[in-house]
Amino acid sequence: MPELPEVETVRLGLVAALQGRRLLRVRALRPDLRFPLPGKFAERLKGRTVTAVGRRAKFLVVGLSDGLTLIAHLGMSGRFRVFATPLPDLDPHDHVIFETDDGAEVRFNDQRRFGFMDLVATADVANYPMLAKLGPEPLGPDFTGPVLARRLKDRQAPIKAALLDQTVVAGIGNIYACEALFRAGISPKRRAATVQGGRAGKLARAIREVLTDAIAAGGSSLRDHRRPSGELGYFQHSFAVYDREGEPCPGCACDRAKGGIRRIVQSGRSTFYCALKQR
Ligand SMILES: [Zn+2]
Repeated sequence: MPELPEVETVRLGLVAALQGRRLLRVRALRPDLRFPLPGKFAERLKGRTVTAVGRRAKFLVVGLSDGLTLIAHLGMSGRFRVFATPLPDLDPHDHVIFETDDGAEVRFNDQRRFGFMDLVATADVANYPMLAKLGPEPLGPDFTGPVLARRLKDRQAPIKAALLDQTVVAGIGNIYACEALFRAGISPKRRAATVQGGRAGKLARAIREVLTDAIAAGGSSLRDHRRPSGELGYFQHSFAVYDREGEPCPGCACDRAKGGIRRIVQSGRSTFYCALKQR
């Protein structure tokens, strides 16, 4: 499942492929993804110029000329691929094709179809239901220790669960919640309300750093954010604690005898952490 850094890398790839380009033709090869595509989807996109490719949490927000915005989510398996002529044959899971005025095609492929696309008036983007309730953008200028502390102060849930709540901070999934807590030295079991002051500052900084590092790693592993397959955005990244149960901890070098990386289950999701370093 793509997490925020992958979506950001996809965004950068789409900026290169789409921004400033006119959509000569759009083809929807089926009527629905996770949800039905909006009425006249392809016709409404045809002829418009892409003015901006933005992102909010894990949503791609594509601004178009004449006041229309395309909102897209990759779901579990959604991916964008960019092809120049000669264009390869369509894959059975290519569902939406964007043809640009430079002869390229951007294809949205989604095997499991948990992704979706919708169209909304640009003036209404902030009120779009799935965006309106999101917490602050973790890489945005408004995300600081005091802001995070305020959002946590009444929460009795463990901090790990609070970080996955999209109204606390937007776009943090299971992997980066584990990584950020490790980097900040905070136990995933700690009550969220007790993450205040300097501790909240450390956590806000750690969230920013783990995401920024992953985006940098993704960008460098994908030249121009695109693989020879045309695929944007997915990359292998190594994690400090995630999926490393039983390995020595890279933070305090504690080995298996003393602890090492442990796995527990919180709210049905695996949490990886070091009980010595994280308090
Ligand atoms: Zn450790």
